[in-house]
Amino acid sequence: MEPFEDESIDTTREHEQLRRVRPSWDEYFMRIAHEVATRSTCPRLAVGAVVVRDKRILTTGYNGSPAGMPHCEDVGCLIRIVDGRESCQRTLHAEQNALIQAAYHGVSVRGSSIYCTHQPCLMCTKMIMNAGIEEVYFAGGYPDPLAVEFAEEGGLSMVRFAPGE
Ligand SMILES: [Zn+2]
Ligand SMILES: [Zn+2]
Repeated sequence: MEPFEDESIDTTREHEQLRRVRPSWDEYFMRIAHEVATRSTCPRLAVGAVVVRDKRILTTGYNGSPAGMPHCEDVGCLIRIVDGRESCQRTLHAEQNALIQAAYHGVSVRGSSIYCTHQPCLMCTKMIMNAGIEEVYFAGGYPDPLAVEFAEEGGLSMVRFAPGE
């Protein structure tokens, strides 16, 4: 490449640096899942999910109330004990919202992968399986042995992926 006449606008070095830190596809989609999670409306936990096929994002979701209903951050969480653990019942889970958004817009998620900031719970795992999603990548949190068991039995790949750890 020809050197720039004006050195102050020469960004060659910056591009070199950018290339070095360029994330893999898995890192890229997981980072986006974390970004999506920042839209969560439940102060207990911010969860994000991104559904991807052929390196294209099909849909995203974060945990939050159904449309038109009040948010946890305004009226407080609605805590119940479910499966022996405290959970907020006001919100739909990030994975559920991602699948619902796909349905709402008529997008098939069959044969896709889902990137989640947290390990999907049992209900989400079952929904992911029946939506035809084939792989789950999760960064951490909320281990649910039964969900893992279901995934194994049903042939759903569930892999922990936490770059930079
Ligand atoms: Zn809540
Ligand atoms: Zn869930």
